[in-house]
Amino acid sequence: MKIAVFSTKAYDRQFLSAANSPKEHELAFFEPRLNRDTAILAAGFPAVCVFVHDQVDAPTLEILASQGTRLVALRCAGFNNVDLQAAADLEITIVRVPAYSPYGVAEHAVGLILSLNRKIHRAYNRVREGNFSLEGLLGFNLNDRTVGIIGTGKIGLILGQIMKGFGCHLLAYDVYRNPELEMLGGKYVELPELFTNCDIISLHCPLTPETHHLINAEAIEQIKPRVMLINTSRGALIDTQAVIEGLKSGKIGSLGVDVYEQESELFFEDLSGEIIQDDIFQRLTTFPNVLITGHQAFFTEEALHNIAETTFANITDIEQGRSCKNEIRAQPEVEAKALIS
Ligand code: NAD
Repeated sequence: MKIAVFSTKAYDRQFLSAANSPKEHELAFFEPRLNRDTAILAAGFPAVCVFVHDQVDAPTLEILASQGTRLVALRCAGFNNVDLQAAADLEITIVRVPAYSPYGVAEHAVGLILSLNRKIHRAYNRVREGNFSLEGLLGFNLNDRTVGIIGTGKIGLILGQIMKGFGCHLLAYDVYRNPELEMLGGKYVELPELFTNCDIISLHCPLTPETHHLINAEAIEQIKPRVMLINTSRGALIDTQAVIEGLKSGKIGSLGVDVYEQESELFFEDLSGEIIQDDIFQRLTTFPNVLITGHQAFFTEEALHNIAETTFANITDIEQGRSCKNEIRAQPEVEAKALIS
C-alpha cells in the first residue's frame, strides 16, 4: 500500500524501512506533522501513518478523506489526538500500536525516581565543575517507602514489579483492578487514600476527560508533604500551574515528567538556538528538584522495532480485508465502572 508517513525523524525512517523489507509497502516520508495545513501532502495515498503530535482532528480527516485516504495508522498507543467519531463518519479506519515498550516506559519512570531521589542530575553537573560538596544531595532509601500507581495496566504493573524489587509498598488506583498487581501485594485504594499515604506517585493512566488534570490543586492539598510526583503518561494529567504552586510551597518534594501538556510546541525538535515562549515550561526548568525529559520514555531499540513491525502488520491486515485486532473505533459513552468499593 502507498503510505504517507508523517512526523518522521531519521530513526523512524531507519526502523520503518528495515521493517518494510522486502518493500511490501511504498513509503513516502514527510518531516512535517500531519494537520489541516499539511494534509495535502497525503493526496493520493490510501494510508497515512502518524505519531503522538499529529493532529488527526475532524478538519484534517475531512481533507484526507476527500483525497482518497482510507486508513490512518498510529505509530503509538495513545489516541487522544484522533477524532474517532469523525473518522467513523468519514469511513476512515484507525489502527494503533497498543504496546511497544511497556518495559522501556516503566524503566524510564524508575530512572526519573532514582535521579530525583539521589539528585544524580545535580551531582553530574557539580562533579564536572569540580564541586564535590554533598550539600543539597540528601536522598532517602526506597526500601519501605510507599509508591502509588495510578493506572495499573501494562506500564503501571511493570513499574509495580520493579518498585517491589526495591522493597517498596504498593498502593494503586485504577477503574479496573489488575489481579497481577494484587498478587505482588499491591492494594487498591481510592485516590484520596493514595494521595495521603504515598511517598512517590506515578501516573500511568490514559488521558481522557475523566483523567484530565487529575493532579490539580485539590489533589495537591491531599498529598503527603514532600511527595515525589512522576508523569510519563500524558502531560494534561497534571495541572502544571497547580504543580508549580505545590513545588513553590514545598508540598511537592520533587517532580519528574517525560510529558508536558503543551509539549507539541516543544518536544522532538532542537530548539536550543531559539527563545522558548512557554513561560510555564520555562518556570518548571528553574526548579532544582524538577527533572524533565522530552517524551523519550518509549525511545528504545525494542520499541522502534515493535512500532514498525506492528504498524505494517496492521496496515497489511486492513489492506487484505482481514479484521485487525489493533483497530480502534469510537465508543458510545461508556460509564467508567469503578470496581473499587
Ligand atoms: P494500558 O491501557 O495497558 O493501561 C492503562 C490503565 O489505565 C488501564 O489499566 C486502565 O484501566 C487505566 N485507566 C483508565 N482510565 C482510568 C482512570 N480514569 N483512572 C485510573 N486509571 C484509569 O496502557 P499502558 O500501555 O500501560 O500505557 C499507559 C499510558 O502511558 C498511555 O495511556 C500513554 O498515555 C502513556 N505512554 C507514554 C509513553 C512515553 O513515551 N512517555 C509511551 C507509551 C505510553
